[in-house]
Amino acid sequence: MTYKNVIYLVLLVAFFSCKSQMIKEETPIKAKNVILLIGDGTGLSQVSSAFYFKKTSPNYARFKYIGLINTSSSREDITDSSAGGTAFASGVKTYNGAVGVADDSTEVKNIVEIASLQHIKTGLVSTSSIQHATPASFYAHVTNRGLYEDIAADMVGSDIDFFAGGGTKFFNKRKDGKNLLEALKMKGFGIDTMALGDFAEIKQQSKMAYLLAEEHMDPMAKGRGDFLPKATELGIQFLTKDVANSDFFIMIEGSQVDWGGHDNNADYLISELIDFDDAIGKALDFAEKDGNTLVIVTADHETGGFTLSSTVKKTEDGESYSDYNEITGTFSTNGHSATLIPVFAYGPGAEAFSGVYENTEIFHKILEATNWDKRN
Ligand code: MG
Ligand code: ZN
Repeated sequence: MTYKNVIYLVLLVAFFSCKSQMIKEETPIKAKNVILLIGDGTGLSQVSSAFYFKKTSPNYARFKYIGLINTSSSREDITDSSAGGTAFASGVKTYNGAVGVADDSTEVKNIVEIASLQHIKTGLVSTSSIQHATPASFYAHVTNRGLYEDIAADMVGSDIDFFAGGGTKFFNKRKDGKNLLEALKMKGFGIDTMALGDFAEIKQQSKMAYLLAEEHMDPMAKGRGDFLPKATELGIQFLTKDVANSDFFIMIEGSQVDWGGHDNNADYLISELIDFDDAIGKALDFAEKDGNTLVIVTADHETGGFTLSSTVKKTEDGESYSDYNEITGTFSTNGHSATLIPVFAYGPGAEAFSGVYENTEIFHKILEATNWDKRN
């Protein structure tokens, strides 16, 4: 080999190794599955409470990629859960009260509809009724969140494969006299209104619904137990049961952190937050083993203007002081607040969730990570 040929060879090798590296960079790894966990009303102080009041290490501490979202709705500085849920599910800003419709009341496509077209399995878990604003945003299209019976009818028309929560009465005690539980069965749903089962009991079903309360699930303090983390695990197991068709999207909602905030009840809020953190743990455990699952944890808005304050005490002389060794959860409102909301992400595509952006970007970033809207 001549000296010239050696130079050519070196250049050739350098060119191809460069090119293969370029190709690698242009083809980012896509997520097969997405687990979106929404802690309703969960701002940074709510998240922080797990670091002081949970007896084990919080699962929130397992994330490396963290961002912040602005949650304002199309007409209001301070959003409600329906506009907030629609922002995540459909990527549009709409007015407070709107579920799955834009500001001009036209229907908008949600991520469940987009994923279902690609035969991606979909699931919803909530500790409220399954027709409540947050879960409803992922399958219903109504101009007012209070239209629970219409929302229940939209569930029958949706492609959801698994759901768990409350809300039986909106299916079977309706003004129109219809029993939509029968309609769900016709669609292939197995329905259990008693308790979460074991995977072995339900794996033969093509779809599965758990409706475990007439309306909302009980608060933790009234004995809800491990419903949320267990339904998270069971839902993932169910959606991945067919090896040849195991890609999925699931939305898990810790609904009642919000209600603790509205009640200005720190014990209620913190017990619901810790339960939600347990569900985050189940999602992360699966994602770590799976390697193809993007986990996103965020909230629609903050509720209560919650703060982990130092406890105000009085000295023997009657002078008040702040005890920095004791936290008291305090509130500034019975409603929602406009504070920016943290976003935690893990898995393929997680880096994209860093930064400061609008709540609607969650939808677009999920599609960017999965390509669910671009597949044939
Ligand atoms: Mg909610
Ligand atoms: Zn609320």
